Amino acid sequence: MTIQVDGWFTEEWPGEKSAISLKLVRKLHEEKSRFQRIEVFETETFGKLLTLDGLVMVTDRDNFIYHEMISHPALYTHNNPERVLIVGGGDCGTLREVLKHPEVKTVHMVEIDERVTRVSEMFYPDLTESNGDPRVEFFFEDGIRWVEQAASGSYDVIIVDGSDPEGPAAVLFSEDFFRHCHRVLSASGVMVGQSESPLFHLELIKHYHATAKKVGFQDVASLHFQQCTYPSGWWTVTVAAKDQSVAQFREQDAAKRPFKTRYYTPAIHRAAMAQPAFVEEALK
Ligand code: SAM
Repeated sequence: MTIQVDGWFTEEWPGEKSAISLKLVRKLHEEKSRFQRIEVFETETFGKLLTLDGLVMVTDRDNFIYHEMISHPALYTHNNPERVLIVGGGDCGTLREVLKHPEVKTVHMVEIDERVTRVSEMFYPDLTESNGDPRVEFFFEDGIRWVEQAASGSYDVIIVDGSDPEGPAAVLFSEDFFRHCHRVLSASGVMVGQSESPLFHLELIKHYHATAKKVGFQDVASLHFQQCTYPSGWWTVTVAAKDQSVAQFREQDAAKRPFKTRYYTPAIHRAAMAQPAFVEEALK
């Protein structure tokens, strides 16, 4: 739920009786796509803000944390991530990070709403700067339909960069979706998805782990980081691996990465896997 009063954008979290507010300079864009209301604002201190149905997706100031954490840990967990599927991620920030990995040979970007990508191309030239890379193909389709129809073993890494589990993204948290992801991954495949806040959505994180285990992933771990414009300011991505421990990753390659990061380092990767006691307890 959003409110705009006296030049402030507020995303309210009704169940939690709390909210985040950002001071606005002006609204830059508004449209209603087939799937959702897309808005872009200029804020005083967080740069441009992209919202879908009134919920914060991206700000210029802090999106690097989320985009680096949903990409690099999973890609460094796989030994040779050549074929990558991104589901959602229409702002293209995740795609840009994925394409920094020289091992990646093909990326299929499956986003339900083409308008999110087109609006991002208009307002976020930095996030969309790699959209013309010849390794990428865009498909504007529902992620569940895509994985239902994809051939078994056809991807090394699947990144689920979907919105909150309401509306079109709800299906991306379903057992059916997880089962297909497991099937379309190669034998050493790795899946990662955004898994919300430990403080506000612990049940969802429990469901994520249980579902990933149920469909056959050998190991599952949530990685924690701060994301001050998302509910509670504390966020997770959850990595699931088919045939290895998620604690193992190509640490030396990560240390020698041939690109710059602003948040990700191998030490952050390791530290992000440490579980707070209440999360450890919940996931037992
Ligand atoms: N960083 C964000 C967050 O955690 O709030 C996610 C950003 S990204 C913009 C989410 C994208 O997922 C949106 O562009 C939305 O259109 C897309 N999406 C939602 N449901 C989808 C589905 N079933 N298949 C493919 N894409 C989907």
